Formats: sequence, structure tokens, C-alpha cells
Amino acid sequence: MKHLLANPAYKMACDQFDAVADFMNMPVALRERTKLPKRLVTVSLPVRLDSGEVKVFEGHRVQHHLTLGPTKGGLRYHPGVELGEVAALAMWMSWKCALADLPYGGAKGGVAIDPRQFSVGELERITRRYTSEMIPFIGPQTDVMAPDMGTNEQTMAWMMDTYSHQIGHAVPSIVTGKPVSIGGSLGRKEATGRGVAFLANRVADILKLPEDSRVIVQGFGNVGSYAAAGMAKYGARIVGIGDVGGGIYNPKGLDLLKLEEYVARNHGVSGFDGGDAISNADLLLQPCEILIPAALDRVITDKNAGKLQCRILAEGANGPTTLEADAILRQRGDIFVIPDILCNSGGVIVSYFEWVQDLQSFFWSETEIFDKLYRILGHTLDTVLKEARKHNIDHRTAALSLGIQKVVNGKTIRGLFP
Ligand code: GLU
Repeated sequence: MKHLLANPAYKMACDQFDAVADFMNMPVALRERTKLPKRLVTVSLPVRLDSGEVKVFEGHRVQHHLTLGPTKGGLRYHPGVELGEVAALAMWMSWKCALADLPYGGAKGGVAIDPRQFSVGELERITRRYTSEMIPFIGPQTDVMAPDMGTNEQTMAWMMDTYSHQIGHAVPSIVTGKPVSIGGSLGRKEATGRGVAFLANRVADILKLPEDSRVIVQGFGNVGSYAAAGMAKYGARIVGIGDVGGGIYNPKGLDLLKLEEYVARNHGVSGFDGGDAISNADLLLQPCEILIPAALDRVITDKNAGKLQCRILAEGANGPTTLEADAILRQRGDIFVIPDILCNSGGVIVSYFEWVQDLQSFFWSETEIFDKLYRILGHTLDTVLKEARKHNIDHRTAALSLGIQKVVNGKTIRGLFP
């Protein structure tokens, strides 16, 4: 699997793992077994476009480990999708699920398309073909998908329908993040963003930051928009928001309701007249108490880590901070990092609730869901901070080592077959 290392995200995930394995004194015999993905599936997807032309897309699914239960993770539609990146994201899902004590291994899927370039009908055909090619490899007890960048509830509804047709009856537990009307969970859509806000707010309390702390959010998709709304509810002031088209900045605070209406009409924040236009690169560097990268990976690098002016870095995205940037943040010591596998785990935690509800055909109230979610997030944050203090290590190493250790424990006690 060395070829995967050509992808920078995969290389980063492996280097991160190696460093943590060193810290854990992990026996050599366990390292490759724990690090390498179990299954890499790549499929060709011939799809008829609206023009009548047939185009063949490439779809991937990586299942990282199957030690503790089915694999779990999103399906991404983004032009940058590559097998190596999907493998990195699958690995991060493993540590994320283990850290939150979910009975899952990690997985991720992807198709290298820009979904905005396709009609709804074309997206439906791409999704259904992808699902049908994956049928031998997925199942409620094998691998359960969910939305990720560029996919949403509708994507999951098409997947569930395609799978259910093959099986002969409705199988809601094949995906999470579905519409509530077909077995989705209340709160799943908001869960990742609200989880980010819950944790950032709790850390702001720990650091005794002012109630109207300034917040900057990079990304205004499903994670960024609910994180911003959540922070505003806690009384914070949202001073900057960016998305693929650029950013908007107003040190006095943005009117989120107006911005949401504007984005619904214009499909992006740029051009909104409630603040000044700003590039995404500059947005990250503006003074604020809480910075929330909630878009792509590797956006905090050795080029900008030294210039960040936040007190809390709440990682809504997966893998937003490179190893070099991490070293700089460690040296600086003045930024409280809430690492991605903790910070954005609200999504997969409520996905787990959705899967459990589907398997039991017994559904919970929204209050019950958020009570349970916040209890798990609060407890996990405390555990990570305790571990970091105990060993005098950074929060990311603490979170990763806790997650990785649970996977290692499972592998060790199950033993090696044959
Ligand atoms: N795509 C989300 C993530 O990266 C959610 C995965 C899931 O709910 O299974 O955590």
C-alpha cells in the first residue's frame, strides 16, 4: 500500500500515527496491523448524463478496520477526491469512533466530482450506480455510510433506496444522515456543528473567555453553518465566515440570520453587504477568540500557524492542521487545540444513535439525543484533557493515543486468525 503515500493527506495520517505509536511504545508487530487499511475498493461508474453522453466516474471506499464492529464514515463528492485521501479520512474515522467508544471501525468513500456541476438527475444516477457497485462490500453490520463534503440527506435517501431494492425490503440502517421521514434521526443534520459549538463553548468557559467571544468560521456548509449558529446561541459574536467563493469579515459581528438568507439565494457568502470581503487565507489570521476551520483538510500549515490570533482552535474539519503546524502550535503554547477527532465527532455519534434507532425501530426525542450527545462529548473532552495533563502532551496526541489504544486492545484480545 506504499503507493497511497504519494497522497499528502495519507502521508500526514501515517506520520501522525507513527509519532503517536512511538509515544505509546507500540510493539512493532502491532503497528502495520493497526495502521494499514483493511480494504480499498475502487469502482468504475458509467453514468448517462442529461446530454445523452455516457461518462465513467471513479468511486472509492476504504474500510480501515473491522475489529470492533462495522465500519462507519461519510461519502464525499469533491473534485480533489483520491484513493489516498479517502484512506487518510478512513483512518481518522477509526480513531474518532474509538475515542467516543462507538462500536465501529473507520471508513470513508468518495467520488471525484464537483457536485455543483451536475443536475439533480445526474447526481441521483451517480449515487445509485456507486451504491449498486458497493453492494457486495456494505451492509448494516459491514459498512454504514453517511453524508460528508458535497453529499447530503438526499444522497443518503437514494443510497438507502438503491440498497433496499436489492435486498427486497426497506433497510434504513444501511446509511445514517437520512431524512427523518425514512428512519433518519432527529438532530443528525445539526449534530456535527452543534457538537463543535458545545465543545468550543465549554473550552471558552474553562479559559474564562468573555461571553461575547469573537468567532471566525472557515466553511459555511453543514458543519460551519450549524457551528456558527450554535456559537451565536451561546452569546458569541461571529466576526468572520468564509466559503469556497471567499470570506466576509465584520469585527462588530455578522448578522447570521441575514447571512443565511443571503447564502440561500446566492449559494455563497461572498457579496454579502453586512461586512467586508476578505480572502480565505486572510480570514484565518484575523484576531478572534475562537477559530473554527470547518472545510478542507491541511489549511493550518507552517505558513500560517505562527500568525494565528485565536485562543481556541476548534477543528470542525477532518485533518485541518498539518504536522508542521502542530509543531508550531505546540511551541507557541498559547492556543488551545480541540483536535478534529474529538471536535467534529458529534456527527458520527448521532449517526451511531441513528443506526441504533433503526436497528430497534424505536425512535428517540431530540432532547434525548442532544442530552446523550453532550454527555459523551463532555466526558470525552474531560478524558482527553486528563490524559494530556497526565503525560504532559498536546491534546491531539492525547486524543489519538486514547483512540488508537482502544483499537489495539480489540486486536490484541481477539488475536490473529488463522
Ligand atoms: N462524515 C462525517 C465525519 O467525517 C460523519 C460520518 C458518519 O456520520 O458516519 O465524521
